[in-house]
Amino acid sequence: MQGELLAELPAAAAVAYAGLLGLLIGSFLNVVIHRIPLGESLLRPGSRCPGCQRPIRPWENVPVLSWLLLRGRCAGCGRWISLRYPAVELLTGMLFAALVYRTGVGWMTPVWLAWGAALVTAAVIDFDHRFIPDEVTLGGLAVALVCVPVAHWLEGQLWVEALLRSALGALLGGGMLWIVGFVHARLSVAMGRSFKHWPGEGEEIPKPASLDYWTWFPGMGFGDVKLLAMIGAVVGPWGVMETVVVASLLGLVMALAWAAGTRRFDAPFGFGPAITAAALLGVLVPWRPF
Ligand SMILES: [Zn+2]
Repeated sequence: MQGELLAELPAAAAVAYAGLLGLLIGSFLNVVIHRIPLGESLLRPGSRCPGCQRPIRPWENVPVLSWLLLRGRCAGCGRWISLRYPAVELLTGMLFAALVYRTGVGWMTPVWLAWGAALVTAAVIDFDHRFIPDEVTLGGLAVALVCVPVAHWLEGQLWVEALLRSALGALLGGGMLWIVGFVHARLSVAMGRSFKHWPGEGEEIPKPASLDYWTWFPGMGFGDVKLLAMIGAVVGPWGVMETVVVASLLGLVMALAWAAGTRRFDAPFGFGPAITAAALLGVLVPWRPF
């Protein structure tokens, strides 16, 4: 009994460390989530209170704890600091701990954690602004296509197999959603359906010679296509198919809840949070029917 407990200690310590790391990374993600959509630098200037421009001191920047100690208010002007900040920190901390608990410690660990951080960023930015930045999706895809096969190879897989798995996952993930968007756009045009936001005011329906014809669809952002390609490069073809199915169900539930909450049925709704939740569930709650 005691021996078993001791054997489990390193694993428990790894999970705890991952949780602490997640709290710190979550604090950084708050900056990323705020600044990337504004096109601002992530490093400079340091964080300031938007109310009184008071620079945020290191001791006021301790994840979750500072927010609690300051009772959610700026130490300078007393302005309310959104619950969003400690929530993102706590969420990232719990996510990191869960990822290490689920996948263990190995060469893939940094990849899983970076992936989790990218997904949190994508979900919150998509929720706020209804777009997902290319830095997260295309940047993440490029990194994943190199790092995931290398990590799997270091863990003992054949490198050809690991490379194919990532490439196929990316193609399948992006491809599945792209086909849905493309076919829907062409069918809608053929049937003369009109959309409020597509094409934009004074703009024409895109022609095959233009890039828009291939990448700009009504009711679906191309950011979702890129996000699923990035996810596929990490979880592989089977994982990404599972992600698409679960995301569709989650998206439906979230859209209905959103419509019920806002009493609007035409409100535009980002699919990103559903995709990221589905991708993380696939890793954290492995479920294989066959
Ligand atoms: Zn202030």
